[in-house]
Amino acid sequence: STKKLLETDRKHLWYPFTQMKDWLEDEPVIIESGDGFYLVDTEGRRYIDGVSSLWCNVHGHRVKEIDDAVKGQLGKIAHSTMLGLGQEKAIELAGRLAEISPEGLERVFYSDSGATSVEIAIKMAYQYWRNQGDTKRTKFIALGDAYHGDTIGSVSVGGIGLFHGIFRSLLFETYYVDSPFVYRYEGTEDECRAHGLEQMEALLKNNEGQIAGIVVEPLVQGAAGILVHPEGFLKGVEELARKYGVLLIVDEVATGFGKTGRMFACEKEDVRPDFMCMAKGISGGYLPLAATVTTEKVFEAFLGEPDEHKTFYHGHTYTGNALGCAAAIASLDLFEKNDVLASLDAKIAKMEEWAVKIRELPFVGDARHVGLFGGIELVRDKESKEEFDYEQMVARKLILSMRDKGLMVRNLGNVVVLMPPVGMSVELLDEMMSIIYDSIRDELPGIVE
Ligand code: PLP
Repeated sequence: STKKLLETDRKHLWYPFTQMKDWLEDEPVIIESGDGFYLVDTEGRRYIDGVSSLWCNVHGHRVKEIDDAVKGQLGKIAHSTMLGLGQEKAIELAGRLAEISPEGLERVFYSDSGATSVEIAIKMAYQYWRNQGDTKRTKFIALGDAYHGDTIGSVSVGGIGLFHGIFRSLLFETYYVDSPFVYRYEGTEDECRAHGLEQMEALLKNNEGQIAGIVVEPLVQGAAGILVHPEGFLKGVEELARKYGVLLIVDEVATGFGKTGRMFACEKEDVRPDFMCMAKGISGGYLPLAATVTTEKVFEAFLGEPDEHKTFYHGHTYTGNALGCAAAIASLDLFEKNDVLASLDAKIAKMEEWAVKIRELPFVGDARHVGLFGGIELVRDKESKEEFDYEQMVARKLILSMRDKGLMVRNLGNVVVLMPPVGMSVELLDEMMSIIYDSIRDELPGIVE
């Protein structure tokens, strides 16, 4: 029963990113099952899953085709190591990932989470130079307010003070460029792009020969609050990487698998990185799986005789887990079978239709989205963009009121985050957006007072 579960929860659990003092005083919802695009709690209440769990269940929950693939794989083997052994599903999936990745990305290295996929890209980029005798290129350039996961390596290229600040002294040094965030930039979109690229070029010039790579979230920074970049910024970063001969790592952990309207955000600006990091939606949100995909050029720098020490000494027990790979293949099949990418334009248009209306509401500073990757930023004053105090928890209270209306979304600070599953119908998306609109119109003024 819910009561019994809560007793154990109170006694034994510690939740991620959560102030446990608040949690222990709260009455949390406990999810028991999923049903298509709905989550169902232990009391039988149903909620539209407006954020694809944590931006990963791209086709929804209990998807027959993925369920069947996982069950089929269970009938063969759940897991076997990739240390010294090939693994059927991991091989099959690597071929599929190379097919859908931007041109030139051919080699797949598996891991288990978004953070590790970035960690691996950083370590590979670092070792790439050393394997060629260049020991000076040891630094990375990243974006302020970046989020690349929570391992020490990925935090080292992260920029969110609230999450990462306390660990600073454990981290390696990274150079930062201001997040090119159009809404809060004092100037035009063009000036915002130019500012970011000029800062980046100055770092590349001043540290010539010392930069191993540039790490970016493409088009939009998710965890920092859906910070949408100026158009062309990513392309500009690619041009700088090429001009100064450094490696480009694009973190598609959040943006990948259809969320921006393309399979990968990179495609929107025809960018071909040296590394692409994938996780979250890769397995349809079913199992922990991640991949770092890179070029033959990078791969070849790791080939050598034993005494050359060029091997990439990195791996995890569950690297390339067979169940995860089977789920991922089934998810990619579904993208094809349901023509998901072609269906996205209508869904994105629906989101924009609502965003236009939501922007007009009181206390809404901005309603922005790249594809279905969206955020609604709440402000005290629309004109000056003055922020609500963090302690007021305005967006948090608002999303709880949406929950009462049967919609599960999340907030990041003062931003309500939207990440509907790419497989959701236009009709359900419409219903979800109408709940959001009504809640902001009807509940927010009371919350703000
Ligand atoms: N990179 C980006 C852009 C992310 O948004 C996230 C998670 O939100 C990560 C990396 C970390 O992924 P994971 O939580 O699977 O480690």
